[in-house]
Amino acid sequence: MRYALLGYGISGRGAEKLLKSKNIHNIDIFDDTIQSYPSVSSCDFDRYDKVIVSPGIAPDKINVPVNKVTSEVEIAYEFLPPDAKIVGITGTNGKSTITYLTWQILKQAGADAVYCGNIGRTFSEVVAENNYNIYVVELSSYQIDLLKNFRMDAFCICNVTPDHLDRYRDMKSYTASKLAALKFADADKSYLLKSTVFEDFNISKSVNFIDPELKKFPVIKNNILDFGRFYADISSYSLPGRHNVLNLAFAMCLADEVYGLKGDVSAIASSLKSLEQRCEKFAESGGIQYINDSKSTNPESTMTALNAVGGNVILLMGGRIKDADYTGITKMINKRVKKLVLFGEAAHSLNSQFEGNVEAEVKICGSLDEAVENAFLSAEAGDTVLLSPGCSSFDSFSNFEERGKYFKDAVNKKLKGCGLNV
Ligand code: ADP
Repeated sequence: MRYALLGYGISGRGAEKLLKSKNIHNIDIFDDTIQSYPSVSSCDFDRYDKVIVSPGIAPDKINVPVNKVTSEVEIAYEFLPPDAKIVGITGTNGKSTITYLTWQILKQAGADAVYCGNIGRTFSEVVAENNYNIYVVELSSYQIDLLKNFRMDAFCICNVTPDHLDRYRDMKSYTASKLAALKFADADKSYLLKSTVFEDFNISKSVNFIDPELKKFPVIKNNILDFGRFYADISSYSLPGRHNVLNLAFAMCLADEVYGLKGDVSAIASSLKSLEQRCEKFAESGGIQYINDSKSTNPESTMTALNAVGGNVILLMGGRIKDADYTGITKMINKRVKKLVLFGEAAHSLNSQFEGNVEAEVKICGSLDEAVENAFLSAEAGDTVLLSPGCSSFDSFSNFEERGKYFKDAVNKKLKGCGLNV
């Protein structure tokens, strides 16, 4: 078997590692951004049995024969230990959180589980390293688009809101791409957030819908999240905001599908932790809270963060703008934000979308440093300084983690400089 590897990024390297661990060395690498490799366009597909396409490459930009296309996720699937189970998680916002929650629930319940995929380590890399009984895999729509031979034992689409519209023609084709993954799982083991975006699609009646109000399944009443066979008192659940209760609902359903939950699971709910960079409260000083939500890369997630953190917010937004409508969040901004600090490449475009609609004071800054500086000028006891950029980080940083760390360091430095207690 001879493989071509198109794109030598995180996923390409993961696939290569797994193939090599199985003694497969017939792999040629193509990458347009690394000088030592030939470009993707120079690959002669006739010479290969399988072509591993990176999710970063839009399939319509290259013409790989359909029967040869494979991907890092499919390679992992091919070499999965027998009887291992896969939980697949996709959606626009909340994938990583649900992935991490599902893994924690499974571990607490006693399962031999691991999490991977679009969150940290690739699926292939994890399969290469060790055998597990359950693989909790975060899947992006780009990864789903490349799947043909794949089977999940539980699956969810936690929401679909506008994003990645540079790659998909419109919302309908983006939604269709997410829904296409339903064919890789049994309908009754699939969970979808009930939403009007699915109305135009023919979805099996056996699919489980979770209603956003949590009035049907699961039901929330007096802080008890009730799934029927099992339930959790979520009074001590630490992840903030209503959206995180929905994330918990999905995670519990998925864990139940592959491991089975029974009776009172409140202790598990209380033990769950959040990932860094998502509404992460990292400092409090002089009655001011500092929250890092650098993972917010679209307007929808900024809205969610605002909803979760309460009022009196000094909101830092900016970065590289997405092809999205930001005016939808002005209502929420007017409800929660006392000062809006816009920074980076997106500052002026965001300002032109908000102008005339946002009531709060608006300040335009060049860099994130300047934005932090500005937030400190206005923050007083009772306020929350929130970085929830709603844009990608690529104007100034390599990724959202780097941006979040930079923000936390800048705030902590300032707090120390002010002689306050961090
Ligand atoms: P993803 O992996 O899909 O990007 P994350 O769990 O990393 O999702 O969260 C990304 C952003 O989306 C965070 O800013 C968070 O506040 C927001 N978010 C998390 N869960 C949800 C949800 N269920 N609905 C809407 N927004 C959410």
